Amino acid sequence: MTDAIVFLGIQGSGKGTQAKLLAENTGFIHINIGDLLREQISLATDIGKRIANTIRGGNLVPDDLVFELIKSTLPRDCPGVIFDGFPRTMPQAEHLVDHFRLARVYYLDLAEEQALERINGRRVCDSCGTNFHILHHPPQHEDICDECGGELITRADDAPAAIKKRIKAFYEETIALKTFFEQKGLLLSIPAQNSVSEVQAAIWADVMLD
Ligand code: AMP
Repeated sequence: MTDAIVFLGIQGSGKGTQAKLLAENTGFIHINIGDLLREQISLATDIGKRIANTIRGGNLVPDDLVFELIKSTLPRDCPGVIFDGFPRTMPQAEHLVDHFRLARVYYLDLAEEQALERINGRRVCDSCGTNFHILHHPPQHEDICDECGGELITRADDAPAAIKKRIKAFYEETIALKTFFEQKGLLLSIPAQNSVSEVQAAIWADVMLD
């Protein structure tokens, strides 16, 4: 079985940022389901066509499709995987513990109000996917990516109506997973209002204990 680490948290809590940093430090593969799904849409694959409206509306895509996508993305000799944005439902959590050796679940704890402030200011590069924030992490030149010169856009599912739905889904479906993993002794809750480096240090201190 492949080792797995999971980042759980409300939209805007910094899961993607921390998962990417931890992947760089551990050599594990970072899998962000949202990115994989958006890629399917931009490549106009069969899956992409099926899910485009679901994603745009801020709804969750079917569990089976998520499992299929994970399976086809994992390389044969995977050193370990860091999931961000998965699991989001109880069947996904059960699938995860059945198919992976789950080492840790980091719950990035952020109040809804702060999450909304972060999402509203979020801009993403249309070409390479790098994230910026208009106040907290602005690009050097307005609407231009520092990394590749691509155009910075607001994600379609960061529009207010879709955000409302995504946050509702988080409280209805995903937050219950916190208890599920807590009962398995796998959960570590980390205050996510702190800076990127403070959150990273808290995670790293835990990784070093293993
Ligand atoms: P994210 O970028 O993680 O906020 O994900 C963007 C969108 O992708 C979500 O609003 C869902 O429509 C879909 N999505 C991402 N992860 C999952 C998942 N684990 N299960 C179902 N749908 C997902």
